[in-house]
Parts: sequence; structure tokens; C-alpha cells
Amino acid sequence: MSFPTDLEIAESADIQLIKNIADKVGIDHDDLEYYGKYKAKIPLKYIDEEKIKKAKLILVTAINPTPAGEGKTTVSVGLNDGLCKIGKKSIAVLREPSLGPVFGVKGGAAGGGYAQLIPMVDINLHFTGDFSAIEKANNLLSALIDNNLQNKVYSLNIDPRTIVWKRVMDMNDRSLRNIVVGLGGSNNGITREEGFNITPASEVMAILCLSNDFEDLKNRLGNIFVGYTFDKKPIFARDLKAENAMAILLKDAIKPNLVQTLEGNPAILHGGPFANIAQGTNTIIATKTGLSLADYVVTEAGFGADLGAEKFLHIKCHYGKMKPDAYVIVATIRALRYHGGAKKGEYEHPNLECLKNGFENLEKHIENALKFGMQPIVAINHFATDSQEEIEFLISACAKLNVKAIVADEFTKGGDGMIDLAEEVVRCAAHCGNDFKPLYNVEDSVEHKIETIAKEVYGAESVVYSQKAKNQLKTIYDLNFDKLPICMAKTQKSLSDDETKIGRPSNFKITVREFEFAAGAGFIIPVLGDMMRMPGLPNVPAAEGMHIDKNGKITGLS
Ligand code: ADP
Ligand code: MG
Repeated sequence: MSFPTDLEIAESADIQLIKNIADKVGIDHDDLEYYGKYKAKIPLKYIDEEKIKKAKLILVTAINPTPAGEGKTTVSVGLNDGLCKIGKKSIAVLREPSLGPVFGVKGGAAGGGYAQLIPMVDINLHFTGDFSAIEKANNLLSALIDNNLQNKVYSLNIDPRTIVWKRVMDMNDRSLRNIVVGLGGSNNGITREEGFNITPASEVMAILCLSNDFEDLKNRLGNIFVGYTFDKKPIFARDLKAENAMAILLKDAIKPNLVQTLEGNPAILHGGPFANIAQGTNTIIATKTGLSLADYVVTEAGFGADLGAEKFLHIKCHYGKMKPDAYVIVATIRALRYHGGAKKGEYEHPNLECLKNGFENLEKHIENALKFGMQPIVAINHFATDSQEEIEFLISACAKLNVKAIVADEFTKGGDGMIDLAEEVVRCAAHCGNDFKPLYNVEDSVEHKIETIAKEVYGAESVVYSQKAKNQLKTIYDLNFDKLPICMAKTQKSLSDDETKIGRPSNFKITVREFEFAAGAGFIIPVLGDMMRMPGLPNVPAAEGMHIDKNGKITGLS
């Protein structure tokens, strides 16, 4: 019999009413804001700074992934089940999926196999409407901008050619990347070039995820940089008096969403910024809510540790004033074979030589964790194609670096397959002496901050700036954005900015082609390659394989 699909497993689960899940973490039923029987929002009053100080935050990150993903979400869900299984009060706090990947290539993002979040279909579709609210708040600002261009009485004199703000939609739709709005004559707006980004790439998403409360949210929304006037004065969202109305649209989206794992353990899903052009991790509010409700919080940082964990540590920990207590690096043997030279079609099969060569990618991520003051634990996310000799090699290669590597068997066994990892995480969070220290200080110059990430985290020799980037650097200093943290935009496939450089590249430079800044979210984005803010669909989108029958039963969602 073949292994059931994620959806089959999710649908056959014995799902509990959400109020029963709330009981496990001490949330009063009357405080829950119900979205049907299995989803609820948690009010912000559950954030408790004293409890936050005592709870343990477990960061789950990974080696540089193959396009399929290496299982950070799946391991996070399974680790939470493992912790609950050994009697700990634990909660998983993760991102909400985006419709783009669901209907495109990657599929859903609520775990896999026997380590999933449910209700799986709802979570992967409209969920509690947070993404829609973010989209509306974003597009309200767009409408206000275009209205101001049209308005001759209260004109801010915005030069339409300088507007950087774009509309958003949560769909992979490449034909909206570059468009023209305002066609049709003088009653129909000022004609200008526009474009759409996907919702997880929007600054409003990044802002929601970095806000500590409503005041912080409003402040950040007001700080959004829109463009310039014809006499070169910067225009911000607050100049358009946009921040209150935008925040009103986010009044429910700001509250974290409670769901459950297949094993009936609590999980919070909230926010979903991409990890390449944004910070790639759930909201600060959700993480703080989790830390207030449980003794252990398992959370994920997107893509590999060079992107996700670095940003988690330098951006989220900075704004949320938090520190992780344990640091888990998810590695798969198939991805390490890939880093060791196995080609597509080959890396699904045992290959000790390639694994040995590819180990250097994991080694670099281990070294990086230590630089941040964190003792890493390696979770070998177990695939059916892993051979015993490969597993043994990986455990002993890590042991030589004084790092514990533990097989994570959440996919086929759920929490039962995660006991060893859970016990080690508990031990390390208490006894490893982890003491996170950022590698740069936000007060450092922009160039110094970028160089620190490039050299220390990626292993680059130096940073090259294009002429355009050099000019934009001047703008960053002119606008006083230089004291913001850095949010690197680069490929997730390599430690370098060149996706073909697998393993542990050396003797390379990185090139900052241009800068973007997210003054509201509060970071500067050095763009190291062609970054996709609006992905396209593949030749055969996942959408084509989906089906709903006359009773509303869905198949093909993965
Ligand atoms: P990430 O969070 O790192 O992007 P996910 O946890 O979303 O990765 O997993 C990516 C895909 O791989 C999912 O479809 C998931 O079901 C699948 N997957 C994860 N772990 C395993 C495993 N151990 N065996 C088989 N498939 C797995
Ligand atoms: Mg994930």
C-alpha cells in the first residue's frame, strides 16, 4: 500500500474543537474569537512579558534547500508534538501559507505526512482572512496615492514616475508584474506605470509581522516610503494620512490564529512574509503570544539559515527584543547529496560520496550558529531513500564538530518519531549556555552591516556595488534610513548570490545590484540578484491537479 497523501492523512484525523485546544494553553473560551469550529483568533491581551522571559524559544532553520523544501515546517510541527509527548507544555508558532505556492509548484505549507497542522484545507486556502486584509490595507494606500495624483485641490505634488509602492494580490500571476493604470481619459486617473507584487512580498505583510502592538503597527504603516514630489521631497504614507485607515483594515489580522496539530497539540499560525525579500518568519505578536501561553515555542525561519535564521536573529529578535534558547538545523540527506554534486534525478538515491562532499554546506551553517552564540542541534529529516550508512556518516561527521545530529522521523511517525530530538532540545535549551549575540550593530554603517553578513554568514571575500546601488546608498543616508537592520534579498539555493554555487562556495564576491528600502517595516534590502516579488505559475500548475466533487470533497491539494 502506498503512503497516504498529506490531504488523506489530514482528513482522516480526529480533529478537536478549537476550544478544547485552547484549554491546553489556558485560554478562556469567552476570549476566543471563533472562525468556525476549528480556528480561532487569540486576543492581544494574552501577551504577558513576564511569562515571555521564562519560556524557551526554539528556532528551526535549515541548510540551503532544494526547491522542494527540506522540511522545516514538517520538523517544527513534529518537534512540537514530540515535546508535548514528553510532557512539556509546547506550542508551534509558524507562518500562514500563501495561495501562490499552493496553486503553483510547492504546494501547501502546513507540514506533511504525520506532522501536519489542521484543518489543512482551510489553512492552505483563505484561512481567517489575514492575507486578504493585508492585501486590502496595501491597496488602500495605492488608491490613496492615485487619488492624490488626480486631486488638484489637496495635491501633494507627487511625481508619479517616482512612486515605488505597488498593489498586491495573493496569486502567482506574472502578467501583473508591470502594468499601466489610469487609462481612459481625464476622469479615470493619472496614467502611470504600476505593477503587482504577491501579498507575502508586500511591505504591509512585513510590517504586520514586525509590529509589537497597534501603536507600533500604525507608526510603521505611516513610515512607508511612497516616492518623491516634483521638487524631490520624500513622501510617506503618513503624508497621505493613510496609517489609521490601513490599521483599521488590519484590526483582526493583527490577532494570532489558533489551530492544532494532527495529535491535537496547539499551534499558532500568523503572518507569512517570504524569506527572500522579507524577513520570512511569523509575527512577533504570535511568537510573544506563544511564549506567554506555553513553556516551549517551536518556530521556523524560512529557507536556509543564511537567509531565514540570519534575518530572524538580526531583524525579528531586534524589533521583538527576544532571543532563541535553542537552534535546530534541519538537514536532509538528499539535499546534502545535491550539495555534493548529485544531479536532479540522482539525489533521490543513496550516494555516500556525494553526501560526504555535500556535508560542507551543513558544516558552514553549524559554524554560523556558533558565531551567533548558539549551539546547534542537527535534525536529520528522515526520508525513505536515506541509507543506514549515510545516516551513520552524518551523525559521526557532526559529532566530530561536537554537534549532536538526531534522526527526525516525524513524517512517518509524528511525535513518536521526535522523542530523541525533543529531549535534546529541552536539554540544550537549559544547559548549552546559548547566549545569542548579533554579528552587527544596527548603528554600524550600511556597508559594514552588509559586509559582516557577506563575510561571516555567506563566506564571501568582499561586496561589490553596482553604480546604481552606489547612488542609492547616498539616498539611504540622505533619508536617514542607514540605522535600520539589513534584509538581504538573494537566492536561497546557495550560500553565495549565484544559485549554481552549491556546497560551501569559496573565493567569491557578492554584488549588490540595487537597494530597496522598507522604511515602515524597518529594514534596508540589498538586492543581490533578480528577486521575484510576483512569481509566475509553472507549465503545469498544482491547480490543474485539484478536484472538488458534488459533496464539496477536495482532492489533489498537497
Ligand atoms: P520547508 O518548511 O523547509 O519549506 P516543508 O516542511 O514545507 O519544508 O516540506 C516540504 C515538502 O516536503 C512538503 O511537501 C512535505 O510534505 C515534504 N516532506 C517533509 N519532510 C518529509 C519527509 N521526511 N519525507 C517525505 N516528505 C517530506
Ligand atoms: Mg516552511
